[in-house]
Amino acid sequence: MYLSTRGTVDRLTAAQAIAQGIAPDGGLYVPETIPLLDEQALPRLISLNYAERAAAILRLFLTDYTAAEIQACVAAAYSSEKFSHPAVAPVTKVADGTFALELWHGPTSAFKDMALQLLPRLLSCALKKIGEQAEIVILVATSGDTGKAALEGFKDVEQIRVMVFYPENGVSQIQRLQMVTQDGANLQVIAVKGNFDDAQTGVKQIFNDGVFNAQLANSGFKLSSANSINWGRLVPQIVYYFSAYADLVRDKYITLGSMVNFVVPTGNFGNILAGYYAKLMGLPVNKLICASNSNNVLTDFLTTGVYSRNRQFYKTYSPSMDILISSNLERLLYHVTGGDSAQIGRWMAGLNANGEYRISNEHLAAIKEVFPAGWISDEETAATIGRVHGEYGYALDPHTAVAWQVAENYRRQSGDRTPNIIVSTASPFKFNATVLTALAGTDSFAGKSEFAALHALAKLINQPVPTALAELEHKPVRHTAVCGKHDMLNVVKAALHLVE
Ligand SMILES: *Cc1c(COP(=O)(O)O)cnc(C)c1O
Repeated sequence: MYLSTRGTVDRLTAAQAIAQGIAPDGGLYVPETIPLLDEQALPRLISLNYAERAAAILRLFLTDYTAAEIQACVAAAYSSEKFSHPAVAPVTKVADGTFALELWHGPTSAFKDMALQLLPRLLSCALKKIGEQAEIVILVATSGDTGKAALEGFKDVEQIRVMVFYPENGVSQIQRLQMVTQDGANLQVIAVKGNFDDAQTGVKQIFNDGVFNAQLANSGFKLSSANSINWGRLVPQIVYYFSAYADLVRDKYITLGSMVNFVVPTGNFGNILAGYYAKLMGLPVNKLICASNSNNVLTDFLTTGVYSRNRQFYKTYSPSMDILISSNLERLLYHVTGGDSAQIGRWMAGLNANGEYRISNEHLAAIKEVFPAGWISDEETAATIGRVHGEYGYALDPHTAVAWQVAENYRRQSGDRTPNIIVSTASPFKFNATVLTALAGTDSFAGKSEFAALHALAKLINQPVPTALAELEHKPVRHTAVCGKHDMLNVVKAALHLVE
């Protein structure tokens, strides 16, 4: 069963929690108990393919779904039609003791596909199971990658409508084109005059607007979420931590039971939190290293215990991590405090009212034990992309480059020689301008369109441009709406014809 981190709502089944998205008390749904792996479970994963591994992990959490339902969902989500690599999430050895877990072989070339190819199927299934008749309206705030992945995942799914809000000047040109050219009758894309946190705050306010939600209910609508605040977004991400480990054992890089570190380029704390659940379930994970760019709010929190969003917001080369409020941290705090909802409520109230909160030294020590943290600048990110390509012939996207360098810094400073698995969250082609500039210098890129840059990058790193990205050049723009950060509710009302 699932509980809200704020503790004031009823326990729900997985299907109910997934259909609801965020809890009505403003909290996030968390599993009441964490399933533990039995001794045979991990060795059994080794010979399975990705979809089968996913089914094995998901059934431990989605206990109200039948085996056949889970089977159907994972088979459709992780098919060769959707993922261009037969392993779905392959692990590549890049250097001695350093591996890349590539999560970007899906339709949008970023890791959000790992969850957002599955969530719509889990949600459709959930609606049937709970007998939900309302039309579900999914509101998405995106820093670039979630929006497109949600649009792809939910395109033409019955009974579900999706509205994506992205920061007008906060996404790359490729990311913007991916979204504004999206087809599908049930989808809308809106640019917000503000940054990602403005968009996310706007969506949260709509969720928490009691009057509006009542009006929606009377009109046959219901809100839900595809952001990583939805449990159905988080649970698919647990799978690839197990899958990566199973691959390393299968390929004899590690022995069964030995420890690994995962290094995760982090924004909303969703990806790395999934790794934490894997660790709690018994996967032999030593450290989960939290890597940030100059929006280093998490580095500060994980070293001092003070979470403060009262700081300058930077636009960086790794825009999907340009975040000052990491929503999923709330789930970590819940587990670390042993489910102290009252305490969490106070911290989150502090965050709302004063932009900050401080956890106790005891809680900080427990968190530090698992989550070393570091950050690097844009200059270091570009240098890392160049250096890793030069030394190992491996092209990193800027987010993955942040993780790479933070991993190296951690290894040097700590002396920890545990193998590092770098969680690689985007294809280098998705952020081609930054990657090309880092590899070939500013001049070679000057005056080129993003598409010329894509092809130049393909030549330079000797890899084909992902088909879906190459096709963007000739797709018509379908979505041109722009709104102010305080107008998001009105935009939703207008879309649903709820304006008096
Ligand atoms: C979303 C995203 C991240 C951050 O993931 P979180 O789950 O928000 O921490 C990192 N890299 C890329 C490429 C992303 O799209």
